[in-house]
Amino acid sequence: MIIALRIPSFILASVIAAVTCSFVPTLAQAATTATPALTATPARTWEFSEDGVTFDTQFSAARINVCTRIARDHFAVVTSPENRPINASPWFAFRVTAKTAKTIKIHVSCEGTKLRYIPKISVDGTSWIALPAEAYIHGPAADEGTITLKVGPEPLWVSAQEIISTERLEAWSRTLERLPFVTRNEIGRSELGQPIYKLEINAVPAGMKPNFITVISRQHPPETTGSQALLRFIETLIAETPLARRFREKFAVMLVPLVNPDGVNGGNWRHNARGVDLNRDWGLWENPETRTVRDQFQALRARGPHYFHIDFHSSFVDGFYTQPDDWPSQLPGFTAAWIAGITTRLPHNTPKRSTQRKPTITTSHNWAYREFGIPTCTYEVGDNTDRVMLQAIATAAAESLMEQLLAAEATKPTFSSPVKP
Ligand SMILES: [Zn+2]
Repeated sequence: MIIALRIPSFILASVIAAVTCSFVPTLAQAATTATPALTATPARTWEFSEDGVTFDTQFSAARINVCTRIARDHFAVVTSPENRPINASPWFAFRVTAKTAKTIKIHVSCEGTKLRYIPKISVDGTSWIALPAEAYIHGPAADEGTITLKVGPEPLWVSAQEIISTERLEAWSRTLERLPFVTRNEIGRSELGQPIYKLEINAVPAGMKPNFITVISRQHPPETTGSQALLRFIETLIAETPLARRFREKFAVMLVPLVNPDGVNGGNWRHNARGVDLNRDWGLWENPETRTVRDQFQALRARGPHYFHIDFHSSFVDGFYTQPDDWPSQLPGFTAAWIAGITTRLPHNTPKRSTQRKPTITTSHNWAYREFGIPTCTYEVGDNTDRVMLQAIATAAAESLMEQLLAAEATKPTFSSPVKP
């Protein structure tokens, strides 16, 4: 039944890396029994000639591990994690075509955890629709569901969430780079040799010292709602509005939109190509991706004050992880004022703030707080947050942030050595 097996270079490199790289557990993982084997998913095509139906994973961010025929026009796909232990975020993405138009059923299941995402479909890989109950039934077990779709010669993408691939983020980044005040540079390479890019948005007039904020995203491959919020957030900072213009006169933005290209390319559930959760590596520095971004952050010290750091992710619901207000900070009261500004704009939809009482977890936001003493945030976007509201929240978050940064800058804060809780 399997008629083609083509392994793209990045996947092949992943297979080689799996053989040659030992699994390095993070502090959190070290507490449990980690399985060292890291499973790459070769890009494949499965052709079911009895039904004239073909499935494939010949694209970036694709992932299914098994595809079989159950009965006439009825198929089963299974997704497995890259290694264990791992968070329950079973990613899947595949394409399906049929020689003639027909309706098929696809049983989707994942190994050892609950199916988390409501599947999305797209005919171009760009515009997505979430499946309603007529097309997707979750169950009967928590790890399975059944999709019913009309298929035909035009390829149909089916994915756990909207795919925001490396190519899509690079196209957006290269578009942004055309602005006269934006530069884009490769700052390092991933475990598999993929470039990691930094964008700098810097319209601060020549001769004036810029103030900086840092923005990163996609340490965790399936967290594409976080990427959606990131794009809107940045587009609000570069908009032609009086507020954004005032912001850009004083502040520059250092942005790394894709920290984990290997994980995103491979359709990983959580980890990088070494099987490590990168957002537990800040302070351990066992991975090239986190070391690369760390070095860029530290190099800002010589250029201007670093005011704020934000890291975009996805979770079950919207939320902001921040420091408690009573912790020492270079900018006391900043986070509370920022959230209040969002609440003024969206009184019923402000994400819930959670104060992080464990500064030792090796996340980017904890590290940036300890390293620079600045307010930091992990910005979580809900898996099922209405996509229009997602945009409204990201806009409000960016607008309120610009207001508070300008207010803080006006007080001419003294950036001393880091303050530790
Ligand atoms: Zn995450």
